[in-house]
Amino acid sequence: MPDPRIARLPLSTGELLALDRRHVWHPYGPMPGRQEPLVVESASGVRLRLAEPAYGRRELVDGMSSWWSAVHGYNHPVLNEAVRGQLERMSHVMFGGLTHEPAVRLAKQLVDLSPAGLEHVFLADSGSVSVEVAVKMCLQYWRSRGRPEKRRLMTWRGGYHGDTWQPMSVCDPDGGMHHLWAGSLPRQVFAPRPPDGFEEPVDEAYAREVRELVARHADELAAVVVEPVVQGAGGMRFHSPGYLKVLREACDASGVLLVLDEIATGFGRTGRMFAAEHADVAPDVLCVGKALTGGYLTMAAALCTSRVAEGISEGEVPVLAHGPTFMGNPLAAAVAGASLDVLLGQDWAAEVGRIESGLRAGLEPARQLPGVRDVRVLGAIGVVELDHEVDVAAATRAAVGRGVWLRPFRDTVYTMPPYVTGDEDVASIAGAVVAAASAG
Ligand SMILES: *Cc1c(COP(=O)(O)O)cnc(C)c1O
Repeated sequence: MPDPRIARLPLSTGELLALDRRHVWHPYGPMPGRQEPLVVESASGVRLRLAEPAYGRRELVDGMSSWWSAVHGYNHPVLNEAVRGQLERMSHVMFGGLTHEPAVRLAKQLVDLSPAGLEHVFLADSGSVSVEVAVKMCLQYWRSRGRPEKRRLMTWRGGYHGDTWQPMSVCDPDGGMHHLWAGSLPRQVFAPRPPDGFEEPVDEAYAREVRELVARHADELAAVVVEPVVQGAGGMRFHSPGYLKVLREACDASGVLLVLDEIATGFGRTGRMFAAEHADVAPDVLCVGKALTGGYLTMAAALCTSRVAEGISEGEVPVLAHGPTFMGNPLAAAVAGASLDVLLGQDWAAEVGRIESGLRAGLEPARQLPGVRDVRVLGAIGVVELDHEVDVAAATRAAVGRGVWLRPFRDTVYTMPPYVTGDEDVASIAGAVVAAASAG
């Protein structure tokens, strides 16, 4: 039976929330939902406009960039125009046997921007799928080279690589969301979590342990898969770029491929275009996503070297057997290309540096709070780590009451603001992070 409320638009906020709770899954949520989401009516610049005030606020400064993707803010004229222009030409065509300018242009932009040696681009529809494709590339490379037994992965603990099956198998096996699946996932090789601290020197004992682990498992390892410099959804931790050099050398010495997952760190977030640049390391396969489209549409990519591509193409199945229906979607590719133009058309490193300074100053008071274990900032990432699980409801209330949108998780309250966030808004966000850490 059609619901009469659905024929009549708009829905009231109350109706919308009732239907949402009854029918709509939210990320990592129960069904029916227990926490009431805020209804967003529109978004512009760095502000989300709510359908109804929450804790006295109708507009919220976005401290999350919509899960780290909306780096240029919302309703951006150049990005809007890119989507509109492409929409008038075609919103989608299949990518098998056909191609188009937005995808070709984007691929070339990514090759030019990414670390040296990455020459070939597979466009995927989400970050998790790009990691699946990266893993498939590595396994198939070794299969083609007559080494099918090289099909395990190695990573370090504390990581996050997505929610589909292969990515889950290299997520942190303990603290993360995926320990539930321990018995069902491929069993990968785990090194301990990299020692904390971006500025810290490389811990030689740890480096030796990692080298030994790669060497010991070399015969069964297809690849090492890690997030460079920043472990994001696994706990917002920073480590020395030196460990990427350790991994690169260990992989080269033992004949193992290196996959860097820059889905969170890519496109300037850590102060360099890619976090791997802090170490001057180039991977065999690179995953990008999140900020790729400026937060407009879902798209990610796996880039690989000619060695990997040729290896696959010389095998008994000389093709990469992967092809999503919406691969290379023209709307997403067009807005991604425009987003990279906008990024490169400004002194983005100066903007990220400006936000970094603002966050450093604004988060400093959190060090004095009881229950705060650490305060850390790198590029446009600011983190307050507590010594206990955050009370998400209390923390969110404190932030929203100050006019800021944050989404804390586990033991952290953090922000990854859009690069266009002005100094006053950065200060508001930092103040809200401190207030949320205090309340939560
Ligand atoms: C978000 C994220 C993913 C997963 O991307 P989705 O687009 O959510 O599938 C993978 N790796 C890292 C490092 C991420 O931050």
